[in-house]
Amino acid sequence: MSKPLTDQEKRKQISVRGLAGVENVADLKTNFNRHLHFTLVKDRNVATKRDYYFALAHTVRDHLVGRWIRTQQHYYETDPKRVYYLSLEFYMGRTLQNTMVNLALENACDEATYQLGLDMEELQDMEEDAGLGNGGLGRLCVRVLIGMEACFLDSMASLGLAAYGYGIRYEFGIFNQKVVNGWQVEEADDWLRYGNPWEKARPEYMRPVHFYGRVERGPDGVKWVDTQMVLAMPYDTPVPGYRNNIVNTMRLWSAKAPCEFNLKDFNVGGYIQAVLDRNLAENISRVLYPNDNFFEGKELRLKQEYFVVAATLQDIIRRFKASKFGSTEIVRVDLTKLPDKVAIQLNDTHPALAIPELMRLLVDEEKLSWDKAWDITVRTCAYTNHTVLPEALERWPVDLFHNLLPRHLDIIYEINQRHLERISSVFPGDQDRLRRMSLIEEGGQKRINMAHLCIVGSHAVNGVARIHSDIIKNTVFKDFFEVDPQKFQNKTNGITPRRWLAMCNPGLAEVIAERIGEDYIRDLGQLKKLLNFVNDDAFIRDVAKIKQENKMKFAVYLEEQYKVKINPNSMFDIQVKRIHEYKRQLLNCLHIITFYNRIKKEPNKSWTPRTIMIGGKAAPGYHMAKMIIRLITAIGDVVNHDPVVGDRLKVIFLENYRVTLAEKAVPAADLSEQISTAGTEASGTGNMKFMLNGALTIGTMDGANVEMAEEAREENLFIFGMRVEDVEALDKKGYDAAEYYNQIPELKQAIDQISGGFFSPCQPDLFKDVVNMLMHHDRFKVFADYEDYIKCQDRVSTLYKNTKEWTKMVIHNIAGSGKFSSDRTISQYAREIWGVEPSLEKIAAPDELPVGYDDSELGPKPTL
Ligand SMILES: *Cc1c(COP(=O)(O)O)cnc(C)c1O
Repeated sequence: MSKPLTDQEKRKQISVRGLAGVENVADLKTNFNRHLHFTLVKDRNVATKRDYYFALAHTVRDHLVGRWIRTQQHYYETDPKRVYYLSLEFYMGRTLQNTMVNLALENACDEATYQLGLDMEELQDMEEDAGLGNGGLGRLCVRVLIGMEACFLDSMASLGLAAYGYGIRYEFGIFNQKVVNGWQVEEADDWLRYGNPWEKARPEYMRPVHFYGRVERGPDGVKWVDTQMVLAMPYDTPVPGYRNNIVNTMRLWSAKAPCEFNLKDFNVGGYIQAVLDRNLAENISRVLYPNDNFFEGKELRLKQEYFVVAATLQDIIRRFKASKFGSTEIVRVDLTKLPDKVAIQLNDTHPALAIPELMRLLVDEEKLSWDKAWDITVRTCAYTNHTVLPEALERWPVDLFHNLLPRHLDIIYEINQRHLERISSVFPGDQDRLRRMSLIEEGGQKRINMAHLCIVGSHAVNGVARIHSDIIKNTVFKDFFEVDPQKFQNKTNGITPRRWLAMCNPGLAEVIAERIGEDYIRDLGQLKKLLNFVNDDAFIRDVAKIKQENKMKFAVYLEEQYKVKINPNSMFDIQVKRIHEYKRQLLNCLHIITFYNRIKKEPNKSWTPRTIMIGGKAAPGYHMAKMIIRLITAIGDVVNHDPVVGDRLKVIFLENYRVTLAEKAVPAADLSEQISTAGTEASGTGNMKFMLNGALTIGTMDGANVEMAEEAREENLFIFGMRVEDVEALDKKGYDAAEYYNQIPELKQAIDQISGGFFSPCQPDLFKDVVNMLMHHDRFKVFADYEDYIKCQDRVSTLYKNTKEWTKMVIHNIAGSGKFSSDRTISQYAREIWGVEPSLEKIAAPDELPVGYDDSELGPKPTL
């Protein structure tokens, strides 16, 4: 329950949650009631909690509208270079609280809803997550991404960039995970069932997208004919910057069959069947593919990838052409200027078709020469790589491609021919190099290597953490680095401090603001100033107290959810992320079993109590990941009911891990598990969320962990295990799991328990596939890091007993986390790839207009 604030508290809390002025509150109440009446068509006798949520959402949304229109007019008038972020995933989470935080409306709304007899937090819980991503990608607006993608959108708006997120409006986002008898069960994520108050459909900007057909060569150039057409309908969602009155647009496309769909074709069974078949075309935007770091070469997925690219490029070129110089509108025709006015960022290879599609538009439609078109394309596009796992790299079969996109296949062949000619002129006679670098992989089924296409068709290629960018230069893309070293860059990922601190952890945000002022929310590097307070007892106490409060709140939630009594004084040890072998949830399991065995062996020793929580979704077709979930729940069943263990160890599988659950778990964590095999996690963003929220990291030297250790100093993290070089050396020597199994008694005991049915007495061979994998074909070398991991966990347990020393380490981590703001990431993309300058300037708010401006007048026509 939120309590009303005292006046003193209200004055104090202007920074993080906004000012609750009296007029503000009265207006909000009036508008809330107006929306309940006119928009929801309810009175308070029949209104449901969801109705109240919608009334509040519309009330808050009203504050966006003027700013949104004004921002787009401003872009039209000043004609800045536009940045287009293309992604198949936008892992957005909820919008209401984020909007209130960025518009400084949170306290006022809290007060208004309180005065109306409602609890704002309860209303917020009615909002569905926009789970249009898989994990980190969607949130950086950035990947597997609130996903990386969503963080990026927030930062682009907060830094005043004229940026647009473009993607697909999946009718079903990432599935909801249920755990039934210990197994993952998937449910469809029907997130639009009750309507989405944040989006605005724009049917007037619908665009055609073509598939199939054939290529016709005539005297007036190449034509793609006899195609099937689907319409792309845009839905716009506002993306507010942090208190700068800027509101950018995320435009998501939905597939719509044209009215004449199949009606001319009498073979399909006439009119009724033709109308029924409209569903087939509209399936394109039906559902997000739930794979994380895994390529599945399905035709529908390729359709999705082309659909977003084709619709978006039409938008980009139309907006480029409808330009304005001074007071007169002109139609810009010189497409050679496109790279000066447009930057297209490809989030992974998923939107790689932007390269051949832009070539098709410039050559076939705009009639430019190949060379001119290619120069424009390369200078416009840039590519972000998100993984080096071979099973994740997109390699589309040529057959499938030829059928769906025949003209694009031709163009890719032409790109490849010119690319290989260039390579052979630099390395004459090096046939093996040509084979390695080709966009087309021969041998067996011919495939198109989409990463190669992206590298060749872009002026910049970046990894997402320093170690990852080094790996792509030295291994997977070495050949490309040798011919074009200037293309390769690093952009270490980041997270938005608005969602991942101000919004999810207001208590911590406030005690920081009390020490260093409130400006750090838009300039996170200022957290360094907290180093002046590492030995300040009052600050240490405040930080520890906030953590304890967050833990208590999460414990209440867990007890309601899982009917498990949580010891709030135990260490909250959390690993939440997609379930994947490379992320090594199994290493965590082996520590749990080892810890359990030790308690059983010496029950009277003073063990540091832990509540170990693991959460994450397994891709529905990923058998091993589903078995890992089953193992975690099986271990929990044994451990949690063992009276000898008591409340010193509990194991909880956090069901349905998603952005909204991350926002609750991260502020409550003491220990953050980031234990991937070195060289496999490109960056990670979960690691950064925990660091910023005052958890200590136990982790390998992988992804962004390396830079976290650099920023907070290595002695303030628990770093263990093989480095990338050690993994390489072990690969050369040959990894033999049996060696470790035979030499480490506690490891042998744990494995023997799993394989002997200790955790699955009714079905002793339940985990035979898991054990067989670990013993005989473990690509991620779990056993090689076991011993060092356990030792490191012992150090964690010892330190945790000393709250003061622990909290000092926490403060070092918070102080060192400034680098991991997505504002820093986006500023680097802006300056080093897009050629635009970020700015913390505000634009005029709707109520700060120059005198004499008549708002009722029709303004200049904005290009939406
Ligand atoms: C941040 C986040 C991720 C990414 O976590 P990693 O630990 O970097 O893999 C995945 N899912 C959700 C819901 C997130 O919020």
